[in-house]
Amino acid sequence: MEQTLSIIKPDAVKKGVIGKIADRFESNGLRIAAMKKIQLDTKTAGAFYAIHAERPFFGELVEFMTSGPVVVMVLEGENAMSKNRDLMGATNPKEAAAGTIRADFAESIDANAVHGSDSLENAANEIQFFFSKEEVI
Ligand code: ATP
Ligand code: MG
Repeated sequence: MEQTLSIIKPDAVKKGVIGKIADRFESNGLRIAAMKKIQLDTKTAGAFYAIHAERPFFGELVEFMTSGPVVVMVLEGENAMSKNRDLMGATNPKEAAAGTIRADFAESIDANAVHGSDSLENAANEIQFFFSKEEVI
């Protein structure tokens, strides 16, 4: 059984769609194995997105991810990593397929509602980044 990390980003939390997004996962065969609402600080957000440190949008990305609380989740199920990526839709909501989370709940490429791990290796690292073994049940 695969596990992946999902983050409901500050824009979606502010909009009050935590439940609607969680429902997309549960309705599509992904079990929520861990879940918590947290406020990221600059250091933590920067460390989480360290792979993007050299990208021109890194500063904005960290600023956005610290602009309000986020909900971090471990999703579990068959092909959880790629299934979550499919449910999320394209990074830019304007290019996201109809019916995807980003098409339905996101405004822009920065405020794009959700994060999802993009490989099994990253998923394992990202889950460890936010959760202890005891918290994933
Ligand atoms: P995420 O990693 O958040 O799940 P993703 O894998 O679809 O999204 P990445 O390429 O990993 O996209 O980029 C990480 C995040 O950085 C994006 O979700 C988006 O918020 C932001 N981002 C990506 N490209 C741009 C860009 N050109 N301009 C502004 N922000 C961007
Ligand atoms: Mg990514």
